[in-house]
Amino acid sequence: MHALFRPDAFAGQRVLVTGGSRGIGRAIALAFARLGAEVAFCYRSDQGAAEALLREAAAEGLRVQGYQADVADPAAVQRLVAEVQGALGPIDVLVNNAGFFPSATVLEMTAAEWDAVLRTNLYAVFYCSQAVLPGMIAAGGGAIINIASVAGQRGSARHAHYAAAKGGVLAFTRSLAREAIAYNIRVNAVSPGRIATELLINEENAQEYARWMADTPARRLGTVDEVADAVLFLASPASAYIVGETIAVNGGLLMD
Ligand code: NDP
Repeated sequence: MHALFRPDAFAGQRVLVTGGSRGIGRAIALAFARLGAEVAFCYRSDQGAAEALLREAAAEGLRVQGYQADVADPAAVQRLVAEVQGALGPIDVLVNNAGFFPSATVLEMTAAEWDAVLRTNLYAVFYCSQAVLPGMIAAGGGAIINIASVAGQRGSARHAHYAAAKGGVLAFTRSLAREAIAYNIRVNAVSPGRIATELLINEENAQEYARWMADTPARRLGTVDEVADAVLFLASPASAYIVGETIAVNGGLLMD
C-alpha cells in the first residue's frame, strides 16, 4: 500500500482530515500518518470510533490527534481549526471528507433534511476551507482536497440533496482553486464511486448491492485505501501542476 511514496514523504506536514474517525477519512488519516505527517481528524458523534483510531495510531507510533467537532456548525469549525493550529501549527493539508448519505425522493424529502445534507456535505467544505486559508497563505502554500462523489457528477435517484451538495463541492473546488493558486495553495477533488464503508453498506441500502456490482465496470466496490491513494497524490509534489481537477475513483462508472 502507498508504495509510490517514500516512508517520510509527508514528514513535517500538518494534515487535518474532517470525518476522519471512520471509513474513507480514517484511511486517509492513517495513510498520511504512516508517511510521517502529523494528523488531526474530527468526527461528529461516534467517540468510540475516534478512540479506536487513536489507539491503533498510538500502537503504531503514529502522530494522530482526534477532535469532536460538527463541521456543519461554522463556530465549531472556527474552534476546531484554532485548536488544531494551536496544537500542531499551521495546517499544510486540509481534506474535506466529512459527509453523510441519507435516502429520500424529492417528493418525500423535508426542507429540514435538505438543509442538514447541504450543511454537512457542502457548507462545511466552505467553512473549513475558509478557516484554514489564512494560515496556509501565511505559510506560503498548502493543499486542499475535497471528497466529492459520483452522485455529484451524474445525479442519483433518492439522493438529490446529496448529489446537489456534491455537485456544489465540485464547482466550489474549481472556483477556490482559481483564487487560491495565487497563494501557492492547490485545491482539487477526489470523486469516489461506490466504496465499501458504513455509509454505503447498511440496512437501508441492502437491496442495492447486486445492482451496484452489476453496473460498475470493475464489478466490485472500491476500497478506502484506493481513495486515500488519490488523496495522497493530490497532496504531494507529484501533482504540483494539477489545479482545480477532479480524480474519479469509481471502477469505471462514468466511462460511457
Ligand atoms: P462514513 O459514514 O463511513 O464516515 C463518515 C465520517 O464523517 C465519520 O467519521 C463521521 O463521524 C464524520 N461526519 C459525518 N458528519 C459529520 C459532521 N457534520 N461533522 C463532523 N464529522 C462528520 O462515510 P465514508 O467514509 O463512506 O464517506 C466519506 C466521504 O466520502 C463523504 O464525504 C462521502 O460523501 C464520500 N463518498 C463516499 C462514498 C462511499 O461509497 N462510501 C462514495 C462517494 C463519496 P461520526 O461517525 O462521529 O458521525
